[in-house]
Amino acid sequence: MPELPEVNTVAAALQHFFAGETLAGWQSLTPRLRRPIPDRDQVKDLFGAELGQVVRIAKSIYLDFGSKQALHIHLGMTGFFSMPEKSAKPEKHEHLRLEFTSGKILAFSDPRRFGVVELAQLPLKRVPEPLAGALDAEYLAAACKGSGRTIKSLIMDQQIIAGAGNIYASEALFGVGIRPDRTAGSLAWHEIKALTASLVRVIETAIASGLDYQRKHGWFLNSETTHFPIETRVYGRAGELCEKCGRSSVENIRIAGRSSFFCPVCQKSR
Ligand SMILES: [Zn+2]
Repeated sequence: MPELPEVNTVAAALQHFFAGETLAGWQSLTPRLRRPIPDRDQVKDLFGAELGQVVRIAKSIYLDFGSKQALHIHLGMTGFFSMPEKSAKPEKHEHLRLEFTSGKILAFSDPRRFGVVELAQLPLKRVPEPLAGALDAEYLAAACKGSGRTIKSLIMDQQIIAGAGNIYASEALFGVGIRPDRTAGSLAWHEIKALTASLVRVIETAIASGLDYQRKHGWFLNSETTHFPIETRVYGRAGELCEKCGRSSVENIRIAGRSSFFCPVCQKSR
């Protein structure tokens, strides 16, 4: 599932290719994904309008045409954009095509169909994202106070922090030596401070990796846009020797139904 840095890369590629383009056509090929896809009539306000900017908020993308409502897209599990030729037949899992006056086509595909395409206003109230200046340790400390949840499920709760998913939560906890199954309420202030910084660091590093990869490859927008390389230190490394201590293998346990990778030596349980 694309996490915040992956969605950010998609939004940047959309901005690169489509900012300033004027919408001329709309073809929905499927009535609904997770929610109904608007039909041509419902989006008529957007015709003739120029795409001003592509806004990413948490894991949502908003195509802002300067109308009352923007076009909100969530990639769900498997959503992606592509830029087919006008004459190309729709791909198997293609659900929507936008046509611009320049002749450019933007297609949205989603094999698992958990994505969202709808008209929506940009949200006024925003959950803090794990970025410098947006997430601070005092806020995380308040969320952890007295909580009996595991720290990993707490930092992955999209109502508390927007955009920290399984990979980056695992990496952030490894970076500061906190076991993912610790209860959030047991964390000391210095641990919460370190964890906040660690989360911001892993997310911002991944955001930069995604943008660097695009620049290096001359920008592209397809199913591979979310697949830029990232270095993981524990995620997906069960059974490998821990790179930090070199004494233990990385373990994988289930927390709230998700795989959770950690080093039993480096990550403290209390
Ligand atoms: Zn270790």
